[in-house]
Amino acid sequence: MGSLLTTVRELDRREWRAKSWRSRGGKTIGGASFNKCSLHGLLMNLLYVGKVRHKEAVFPGEHEAIIPEVLFQRVQKRLRENARTGATEGRNRHGALLRRLLYCKACGRLMLHTFTTRGNTRYRYYTCTNAVKRGRRVCPTASLPAAEIERAVVEQIRGIGDDPELLNETLRQARAQSEAAIERLASERQLVADGAKRCHGELRRLAEKGGAVPARVRLPLAENRGWHLVFYPCCLR
Ligand SMILES: [Zn+2]
Repeated sequence: MGSLLTTVRELDRREWRAKSWRSRGGKTIGGASFNKCSLHGLLMNLLYVGKVRHKEAVFPGEHEAIIPEVLFQRVQKRLRENARTGATEGRNRHGALLRRLLYCKACGRLMLHTFTTRGNTRYRYYTCTNAVKRGRRVCPTASLPAAEIERAVVEQIRGIGDDPELLNETLRQARAQSEAAIERLASERQLVADGAKRCHGELRRLAEKGGAVPARVRLPLAENRGWHLVFYPCCLR
């Protein structure tokens, strides 16, 4: 269909619903109609192409793909394009500079860009997600006038260049973030190197032993993270 919304409408027309099942108590669970959010989640789900995601990394799963990779990638490409060209709701129509960047201090939730119109004038605000979704009473943070907070932030950023202390602190934080990332990547690299070594060892052992080669060998790798290596010796012949 080309976009999430038209697809949701088509799913509705066909009366296709999310999966449903019966609980032990005999209650029916699930079976909701799709919305843009649940459809998006479904379309992005790597499980359907036989893969597994762990945090940022993707691994081949042990289950079979039920969606061809080519089709899946075409859908990902379309979703990315829609996000970029604003074909979907993802676009930033009102030029909100701090969209998805501002958080409510009290709730820790994102501040949404909202506006009201009085006469011919549009007033833009950033309002806590909590307040938008559950009412003003649940959040102590007032709506922030968008133009004012945007100006303040821009001035702060401009000020970085002039304020040696702020510049240093910014650099320090950026460096700390890079160093943390390097450390994380190094430990991941070590993990993978260890895994590869173990695979080689296991292969050598199998080769020396002769006889039947198992179809699948499973080696624990970083068990605390729930990772393991699965390899298929038959593919290495
Ligand atoms: Zn809040």
